Amino acid sequence: MKSPPTRLRQGQAVFLDRDGTIIKDIGYLSRLDQVTIYPWTIDAVRALNRAGLRVVVITNQAGVARGYFSEQVVEDVHRHLTSAFEAGGARIDAYYYCPHHPDGSVEGYAKGCGCRKPAPGLVERAARDLGLDPAQSFVVGDKWIDIGLAQAVGARGVLVRTGYGASEEANPRPGVKADIVVDNLAAAASWILLNLQSAI
Ligand SMILES: [Mg+2]
Ligand SMILES: [Zn+2]
Repeated sequence: MKSPPTRLRQGQAVFLDRDGTIIKDIGYLSRLDQVTIYPWTIDAVRALNRAGLRVVVITNQAGVARGYFSEQVVEDVHRHLTSAFEAGGARIDAYYYCPHHPDGSVEGYAKGCGCRKPAPGLVERAARDLGLDPAQSFVVGDKWIDIGLAQAVGARGVLVRTGYGASEEANPRPGVKADIVVDNLAAAASWILLNLQSAI
């Protein structure tokens, strides 16, 4: 007897980086008109939704600590993304961001923290809030810090070549190894779904 996918994959999630992974990385994004969702992103997320996986965005937004934009802007961007995904029949279950940076200039944000990737703080928070099991989950991102995060929480790490991914691939980091490197989020989602099937 088959359980419905949502039961079958209870606790399994895909933690997605934001800039360079689901949208173009333009540096410090501070306005809604700078948001460009990659053309394959919504289809890829919908496929993950349909497989019963939770999809959670995990993003470093040091621009807050540097005084380039406020937390309000970050939240506005996420609301904007939520509507765009909704319009395409896809869903991001939650967004978590780190507004800190040790070299920042804004009081309260200019500090070291446990949530700036590759530190595991945001994934741990998401896991608590949503009942997720990071060790059964995946992290997809365009930087080695995303793969470092995957390693820190015991998830599988997928490096995409969009954003900084191609240059990251050309500059390997000792001790940081992706489970796979793929062209973009569409290929990442396909790989994840194949690997789910083999695990069942
Ligand atoms: Mg990125
Ligand atoms: Zn932080």
